[in-house]
Amino acid sequence: MDGTPNISSLPKTRSLTITKLKSLGIKTYFDLLNYFPSRYENYSTNAKINLAQPGEMVTLTGIVTDSKFQITRSGLKMQVFKINDGTGEIQVTFYNQPYLLRLFRKGMAISFAGTVDRYSNKLIFVPKEYEIGKPEKHTGRIVPIYPEKKGLSSKTIREKVFAALNNLPREFMPEAIIISNNLIKEEEAYKNIHFPDSREMIENARRRLAFDELFTIQLSSALIKKNWGREKIGQPLLTAGTADSIKTFIDNLPFKLTNAQSTVWQQILKDLLKDKPMNRFLQGEVGSGKTVVAALACYLAYLNGYQSLFMAPTEILANQHFKTLQSLFGKTTVKVGIVTGSIKEADRADIVVGTHALINKKFKMHKIGLVVVDEQHRFGVTQRSELKNKGINAHLLTMTATPIPRTVALTIYGELDFSVIDEMPKGRKPVKTFFVKKEKRLPCYRWINQQVDKLASQVFIVCPLIEESEVETMKSVRAAKKEFENLKLVFPKLNLGLLHGKLKAKEKDQIMNRFRQRELDILVSTSVVEVGIDIPQATIMIIEGAERFGLAQLHQLRGRVGRSDKLSYCFLFSESESGDVIARLNFFAKTNDGNKLAEEDLKNRGPGEIFGKKQHGYTDLKIASFSDYELIEKTKNAAGYFLENNDINKFPDLNSRLERYQIEEISQD
Ligand code: ADP
Ligand code: MG
Repeated sequence: MDGTPNISSLPKTRSLTITKLKSLGIKTYFDLLNYFPSRYENYSTNAKINLAQPGEMVTLTGIVTDSKFQITRSGLKMQVFKINDGTGEIQVTFYNQPYLLRLFRKGMAISFAGTVDRYSNKLIFVPKEYEIGKPEKHTGRIVPIYPEKKGLSSKTIREKVFAALNNLPREFMPEAIIISNNLIKEEEAYKNIHFPDSREMIENARRRLAFDELFTIQLSSALIKKNWGREKIGQPLLTAGTADSIKTFIDNLPFKLTNAQSTVWQQILKDLLKDKPMNRFLQGEVGSGKTVVAALACYLAYLNGYQSLFMAPTEILANQHFKTLQSLFGKTTVKVGIVTGSIKEADRADIVVGTHALINKKFKMHKIGLVVVDEQHRFGVTQRSELKNKGINAHLLTMTATPIPRTVALTIYGELDFSVIDEMPKGRKPVKTFFVKKEKRLPCYRWINQQVDKLASQVFIVCPLIEESEVETMKSVRAAKKEFENLKLVFPKLNLGLLHGKLKAKEKDQIMNRFRQRELDILVSTSVVEVGIDIPQATIMIIEGAERFGLAQLHQLRGRVGRSDKLSYCFLFSESESGDVIARLNFFAKTNDGNKLAEEDLKNRGPGEIFGKKQHGYTDLKIASFSDYELIEKTKNAAGYFLENNDINKFPDLNSRLERYQIEEISQD
């Protein structure tokens, strides 16, 4: 695909290592080169033993003259070597690595990198890295440190990346763009992001690779937009003869549409009447009422004789939408069906609800005119091409509550038309949010007990884990199952339910129904309730281990309450004492605006820090940062200018990189 060899052809590599690399999604040399270091260590000072100073970070290279095994008084096992480089001799000590006594034989040349130390008037060296022979990749240079995943050590990854650098793909970026944007060559960039010649080169390399990433994303989306414009829908929908039914439907709703909902409905309506398929992205705060707007679109499709698909990210949410739509269409002839892993009631349904896997499920589809995708952020391209493969050329409406900063939206969703519901239904009150100190936990429980007693409040309690963790640093993190047992003792008179992802679909549905019907006062759960769940009478949300959630995620969780005109509360619990954590949670407590929270999430991850880390829910950038406005702007202009003045088909190398980007998107789902 990218023209580089498969990783199975890496020299001197165990098949277990290949398997582990593959489980990280690394299939080719080029994939491997796109696994970026999280930081670097500077071992570039090559010193002579006689001049080595305590405290210095250096690389020493010498011949092994002696080796022995020692045990310290406290029982630590040491492997001790003497190394001579012609200028002097130094003791090199390792702990608990007995195999080194076999590996380093007398007379061998070895390079060590680390810090020189003094021990009872003698210099000793406890290396962080070593390599046999002269310094090459692990010592004697700025050395990359990789995120260790799936049991792959940073050193193994470094070794393999080094080998992969021998097989780079051809430069794909048109010369003119390289020159006008002052970029270094791709080859140089990959070499220097992994094995930099200097600190300065790391930055040049990062900039080039970030440019590539943002440029290809924007070019892809511009191309999609261009091609989309040429597509024709089978038969445009018509309003003729439907207006009365639509009006009646709106009049029969249990509430009056907000202005924002009406505006967005008009935008959607305009799209639906065109002969080109709609590709619209609807963003609206949690609880702003997106479902009913989507329902209106489904209704118009129905009135024109078309079926709609309505997809949700989880079965729990699919079940909820099924019920919501059934009740919204209660006074009409619309038949709502559902198809999930566990239920199938879609015989002759006009709206079929299901999870995102719906497209691949077997049920009777007739004329599909509209596809609604709820709470998913990366869809468009993939879902639509899947639909097209099935011969479905439908309008597409995607919805999310995740606030997406404008710059980000323009970058990764440039091909979409945007609508925003920027107004909450009347009477909604901001959720009162508190960060609760440890010692206030009991009083907080007491208060909740009273609220349930007096006001019949219903409570969500969300835990970060299902089961307790064995990992030392996670032992204090509350797990739903154990917490459920705990809380039954704390609230002996209340009815509690437990919900998590490992329950069978039926059980999940039962628990949700009991909570919905007020048979349960408290629902203890994992973050399975994070998106979409709508139980308006629930007014209290407790989030355990709040520091473990991102701000956007916390905001989604908090959005499960405050969905009626009753005052709602959100309590954040955390065992963390870190100043940063406390500041972040306090910021969250006083901020109700999802957009502000999203911006803050972005700010907390500056460029350089994000190497290899997953960013928010929008999409995963590998090396660029959404907070790098300047580069986003530059790449956008470059992509636009390029498309205006060139025929992309004359640039096969660039074209195949774009495919690479799209293919990757699919595999992330
Ligand atoms: P979201 O935008 O988060 O998907 P929902 O569509 O689930 O929100 O709606 C949240 C709640 O608000 C639902 O209980 C819904 O019935 C109610 N709702 C929607 N629109 C209005 C409105 N205009 N006035 C009052 N309540 C509304
Ligand atoms: Mg929703």
